[in-house]
Amino acid sequence: MNLVLLGPPGAGKGTQGDRLAGECRVPKYATGDILREAVREGTELGREAKGYMERGELVPDELVLALVREALAGSEAEGGFILDGFPRTVAQAEGLRRLLEERGCELDAVVYFDVPEAELLRRLSGRRVCSGCGAVFNVTSGLEAAAETCARCGGELETREDDKPETVLNRLRVYRESTMPLLAWYRKDSGLLRELVAVGSVEEVYENLRGAIGCS
Ligand code: AMP
Repeated sequence: MNLVLLGPPGAGKGTQGDRLAGECRVPKYATGDILREAVREGTELGREAKGYMERGELVPDELVLALVREALAGSEAEGGFILDGFPRTVAQAEGLRRLLEERGCELDAVVYFDVPEAELLRRLSGRRVCSGCGAVFNVTSGLEAAAETCARCGGELETREDDKPETVLNRLRVYRESTMPLLAWYRKDSGLLRELVAVGSVEEVYENLRGAIGCS
């Protein structure tokens, strides 16, 4: 299964993608996670990407495409993969298509996570990430309300720099302008795009996701 998870920030692609990757035993590559790691480690990629990420803008296509090319080159991606947060522009989608052609494979599905903007703002304002293990929580949802430490490792929970309100609005604008055109682009590819109303509990969305990609 070669899958792309497409949707705005806060739509739940990471949470659902992790779960699906575990169940299907395929690697998940989240370009946002790979870039944040590069920034933390201070690599050349990280130094180039940092400013764009802090402003909530997109990192240039050629940098992201190079990163995905490297990720997919590993043998673990041979049995399938899930891409989360990539492609985000039509140029990236074209680059991905060329890359897959070179490998002699193609996408099986592109799942679009549809979530109303008011719900995205609510989720992003409540998102906290563990500084220790990277687990993601939401302090606006019942069980995790007011938690200050990670339920898994006890690490400190932090707000992602780009989840701060002023940057979130910019990320949503960038999403509308640069990423939404991908929906029409993939719609032309008959049968590839699956549209998922990604609201409800994590459990409900996961079941709908499995249904959308034909998992029995
Ligand atoms: P995410 O964790 O997916 O919300 O990504 C965090 C940030 O990383 C984005 O706001 C962008 O600055 C950058 N980023 C992640 N994926 C991409 C991509 N496919 N193209 C360009 N920039 C990206």
